[in-house]
Amino acid sequence: MLSVRNLVKVYPGPVTALQGVSLDIGTGMFGLLGPNGAGKSTFMRILAGVLEPTSGTVTLDGRDVLSDLNSLWSVLGYLPQDFGFFPHLTGAAMLEYLLQLKGVASGKESKKLAAALLERVNLAYAAKRKVKEYSGGMRQRLGIAQAVAGDPRLIIVDEPTAGLDPEERHRFYRLLAELAERRTVLLSTHIVEDVAVLCPRFAVIRNGQVVAETSPTDARRMLAGAIFEGAVAVGDLDALQRTRRVTQAVLVEGRNHVRIHEPSHEAPAGFEPAVPTLEDAYFVLMHGKPNGTDNGDLAVPPGARVPSVAAHVPETPQEIGR
Ligand code: ADP
Repeated sequence: MLSVRNLVKVYPGPVTALQGVSLDIGTGMFGLLGPNGAGKSTFMRILAGVLEPTSGTVTLDGRDVLSDLNSLWSVLGYLPQDFGFFPHLTGAAMLEYLLQLKGVASGKESKKLAAALLERVNLAYAAKRKVKEYSGGMRQRLGIAQAVAGDPRLIIVDEPTAGLDPEERHRFYRLLAELAERRTVLLSTHIVEDVAVLCPRFAVIRNGQVVAETSPTDARRMLAGAIFEGAVAVGDLDALQRTRRVTQAVLVEGRNHVRIHEPSHEAPAGFEPAVPTLEDAYFVLMHGKPNGTDNGDLAVPPGARVPSVAAHVPETPQEIGR
């Protein structure tokens, strides 16, 4: 069990990036979901032992890991956000070099291990190509190959899917899911789909604070009966956003297909009940209290004009499975 208690990080400025984060993380994949600037990288870098916290503790099975970084690094695999240092090396050469740096293999051994790891992440075919010629997804898979070397029980991956195209992302998902079968994998992301696809548990981080720690199923359940969908004219969206909590607005054939959160559970005229998605839950968690009962920063003035709404909207493909 990885236990984080009251983690605070104040950068010079001062900028308070973490305001006292506490989490318990067991085996399997755990997601840290939040927008840019929420403090995800700061959190991940502290857990990886490459950034010192201002205060707080991190223990792994009861052992204080921040006071003994060597023992942390021996059980840790880390894929930082900006992986891809030696662009002029081939994938194989870069991996061999990193394996030697990490101390998991030397000389001939590192060649053999690198070849096996490249095979494992489906990059054997590109072993002799220079890293600068790799696509984003290939670079991330190379990053996973070095992170998993030495069979660490804790893997930290910081925003690994940002910038990947859908096909590369899905290939990468399968690789990560496989890794999480028997170890702790901590994944940070601003992409709700990453959590929906991969994480049985996740935390939402906002302004350096954890605002929820839950499962995708429970997060959706929290909104049962409170999500509605409809379609509005493009010009009416702004007015709707001022009067209702719009969790999602997607343009389809020139009209806005809109989902709203209505804590009263009463459907506004023209809207139909909808099955909550994780996107809805993320929106609600980011804009109000986790119990979904407040109106957050949305003030609905008495007698405000609520735009008229047309036809029911069927579930969009993106929503299915969330
Ligand atoms: P995220 O990974 O969620 O985008 P970060 O951890 O990178 O968030 O950043 C959290 C906050 O800390 C942001 O306000 C960011 O500008 C600030 N920050 C990050 N690194 C530094 C730094 N080295 N010096 C000062 N402020 C920083």
